[in-house]
Amino acid sequence: MNVPALRAALLSWYDAQARDLPWRVGPAEHAAGARADPYRVWLSEVMLQQTTVPHATPYFLDFTRRWPTVRDLAATPDAEVMSAWAGLGYYARARNLLACARAVAGDHAGVFPATEDALRALPGVGAYTAAAVAAIAFDRAANVVDGNVERVMSRLFAVETPLPDAKPELKALSGGLVADHRPGDWAQALMDLGATVCRPRAPLCDRCPISAFCAAFAQGAAETFPRKTRKADRPRRLGAAFVLTHGDRVALVRRPPKGLLGGMLALPTTDWRTAPFSEAEIAAAAPAGAAWRPAGAIEHVFTHFSLTLEVRRAELDEKAAAPANLADSGLIWASRAELEGLPSVFLKAARAGLDRLI
Ligand code: SF4
Repeated sequence: MNVPALRAALLSWYDAQARDLPWRVGPAEHAAGARADPYRVWLSEVMLQQTTVPHATPYFLDFTRRWPTVRDLAATPDAEVMSAWAGLGYYARARNLLACARAVAGDHAGVFPATEDALRALPGVGAYTAAAVAAIAFDRAANVVDGNVERVMSRLFAVETPLPDAKPELKALSGGLVADHRPGDWAQALMDLGATVCRPRAPLCDRCPISAFCAAFAQGAAETFPRKTRKADRPRRLGAAFVLTHGDRVALVRRPPKGLLGGMLALPTTDWRTAPFSEAEIAAAAPAGAAWRPAGAIEHVFTHFSLTLEVRRAELDEKAAAPANLADSGLIWASRAELEGLPSVFLKAARAGLDRLI
């Protein structure tokens, strides 16, 4: 692999095609000496760990309008930040966000530290976020590896080891491409490539600036990478999910703090287990007495098991049952737009149970 040629090809593609993102300092401004604000980079990366760019963007704009600096955020009462976070997923992450903002404001005089190690020492900042902020805001040669970068590496080097076992190998391969020259632009170029060209499905290899270097492309097998542990190797669990609507709102629950998808908003479901559920068991688990109807089934693959969820839907009479009347049931009534922030297993089930999402 001619690494300098590959880097040059990807960076010049980025110079021409970089996405215009509200937290980003584009390649031309960067070359002219502008630097990204570490607060904005950090905030965007925390938000993007849970959701997509289109979903995160209005939240990012709202947060930075209300709290232009990390000190402003740090000085805000918890409840206000939690409420602004609603719809972005894990509240635990919002709590960590505040803890980190307060640590930067209190222990670092409101200035984010510039090295990966010092960033990593902040509350709630993991390896990925520390590397991303170090690279993008401080131009440190950090190896920024998320799922998109793993996919690009698995294709570029045609890595046969299936995920998740391949993770260390993919990280090492990605590390071999990092250099001191434009490390922030490099990290963002890889992110853009993974998001817009080397997509999970139907990668646009004919538009790819690094196809000449790509082993999976040479094999004509781009989409077959990354290899995954065969579905048959995973145990299958079964369950039912309930899509209960009241006018334009949909009933959600908060999952218990511990365990899979802990603390996240979710559709109400039965337990997930290997034995099939009887209709009586499904009915007993429904979040409200209503005329439940089948709405198909969805499949979701977690790392350690596959899940089939039967979807049941019902509508509450808008006049007869106001949402407040069900407050004791633990249901949380969400707008359809807020469903976009659900974990993908529940988003799939919501899509199956609703004629329209938004
Ligand atoms: Fe991805 Fe195709 Fe480019 Fe290879 S050639 S990096 S598979 S888009």
